[in-house]
Amino acid sequence: MWFFRAPTIVFGEDALSYLSTLPIRKALIVTDRHLRTTELPEKVSRALPEGAERLVLGDVGEEPDLDEMTRHLDQIRKFEPDWIVGLGGGSSIDTAKILFVLYERPDLTVYDTTPLQPLGLRHKSRLVAIPTTSGTGSECTWAAVLSERQEKRKHELASPEIIPDYAILDPEMVVGLPVEQTRNTAVDAITHAIEGYVSTWKNPFSDAMSEKALELILGNLLIVLKNPKDTAARNAVHVGASMAGLSFSNSQIGLAHALGHALGARYKTPHGKAVGIFLPLVVEFNSSACQDRFDRLNALFPSPVRAGSLAGSLKKLFGAMGQDATVAALGVKREEYFAALDELASMAAESTGLVTNPRDAGSAELRELLTQAYGEEG
Ligand SMILES: [Zn+2]
Repeated sequence: MWFFRAPTIVFGEDALSYLSTLPIRKALIVTDRHLRTTELPEKVSRALPEGAERLVLGDVGEEPDLDEMTRHLDQIRKFEPDWIVGLGGGSSIDTAKILFVLYERPDLTVYDTTPLQPLGLRHKSRLVAIPTTSGTGSECTWAAVLSERQEKRKHELASPEIIPDYAILDPEMVVGLPVEQTRNTAVDAITHAIEGYVSTWKNPFSDAMSEKALELILGNLLIVLKNPKDTAARNAVHVGASMAGLSFSNSQIGLAHALGHALGARYKTPHGKAVGIFLPLVVEFNSSACQDRFDRLNALFPSPVRAGSLAGSLKKLFGAMGQDATVAALGVKREEYFAALDELASMAAESTGLVTNPRDAGSAELRELLTQAYGEEG
């Protein structure tokens, strides 16, 4: 027995206006410090039903920890929202998910939930996710990540009940996304689609999501990078990124995420950039376990960026995008990096991504991939 889990997805131009049809009395809008200074929170507020009250929490940082997430719980409990709206990238949406759990279940901490334990949420509120990046897939997934600063680690809260009730994919929310973030988050989405497609938990539903996600992203990403205001191309990449989220959320991620998380935790590399450095190397490493699947995905690359193998096509695509492809390019010093190699390998070895990767990787293989990822200093 297996499941395919997904929010109700409202997508395309004007999708945001759907908010006005929901029975919202009091909306808590959770967003980050950068977005707070843009017009987007106001756009969302204006889309709420007439007469609805709102409280905007606009101080989510790039890697929120538990203190940051729970600082406002008293205020939230006093406000008594009946809808919680996560507006932003993965951090804002993940924060909204965690606040949702703690608001609904004041008797719980984030550490005493397990994926299979029923949480009994939705007695007080419902959850909406409005992504402003095209990549993390958080609007579709049943996980929320929080940082543990002291331990330089991440904790993941997972429960099918934190899949948002609605994911609203409006291209207006991403047309202003800066090019650098557009690149990094798109690479994250491509990684989700590929890792979800070869995970040992892959299934026909996740397969379909991966294939279509790649077709949409690969067919439109270079257009978006050239002309960020192209709404139709933005829309295609935005929908594709959510489909990639649905793929890995209903199968699993793999080794590129395991290694990318380790790199990101140590060097604060943006998530998409970190996983993207490892993706072509991991695809090469995994090829012997799933060559036919990689060939099928490679055929989806448009001819200008298609090579003889999936790993080759990824390198070509990243080159065309101007995406940093090595650790050296991040400015990490060679000595520092190689001194940290064991620590990075053991951090990667603890990741769930390793369990569902199509090919086993022990510490020697992890070290080898980390070594290759350093690349040449320019
Ligand atoms: Zn990711």
